Amino acid sequence: MSESAPRVLLIEDEDQIRRFVRLALEREGFEVHEAANLERGLIEAGTRRPDLVVLDLGLPDGNGLDLIRDLRTWSDVPVLVLSARTTEQDKVGALDAGADDYLVKPFSAVELVARVRAHLRRRSSVVTDGSTIIEFSDVRIDLARRTVERAGQALHLTPNEYRLLTHITGHPHCVLTHRQILTAVWGSSHSEDSHYLRVYMLQLRKKIEVDSSRPRHLITETGVGYRFVP
Ligand code: CA
Repeated sequence: MSESAPRVLLIEDEDQIRRFVRLALEREGFEVHEAANLERGLIEAGTRRPDLVVLDLGLPDGNGLDLIRDLRTWSDVPVLVLSARTTEQDKVGALDAGADDYLVKPFSAVELVARVRAHLRRRSSVVTDGSTIIEFSDVRIDLARRTVERAGQALHLTPNEYRLLTHITGHPHCVLTHRQILTAVWGSSHSEDSHYLRVYMLQLRKKIEVDSSRPRHLITETGVGYRFVP
């Protein structure tokens, strides 16, 4: 294992799942550190300084959500939650607590590794290249010039549409909750106004997507929020 391999901290109390996830990540060249409870997980997060945390919510000494809240007071490391809890409320709760992504058990190793890679890619691009251009399909967003083009033609967006588009495309592959998006784009006083978001998302899809009734980039996560797929 090279010293530059990305470090993943895996906090999970079930031995079998820990082994399964560790093997899947090590096969991809990640350096994996493990913790089997919340207390140990926080210590490892502080000492190992991982590039990403994979976190089970049901831990023997507490709830993983508390770990995320604690972690978020001093770290912005991406957190991918694993959980057997499947209600929308559980997902929203985890994402609002500061998780970046959510995988429901049972999950496939392929999907887990793909999401870990996506988060690390996003992180390294944010940290290193400071790029101001976002491109997908025939759409090109220039953050420095505040312009959006589609197939080389200028696309007119309202200020709110532009903010919504740049916010969601700035977090590729991440599930963003309605509340997170509303707060970022319209401010915290509108955090409950999901209907705003539906209306604007509809308009944005008509301008950005080839077929707005079958979006390929601005994906609905039913009952939770939206995910941008480049
Ligand atoms: Ca568990």
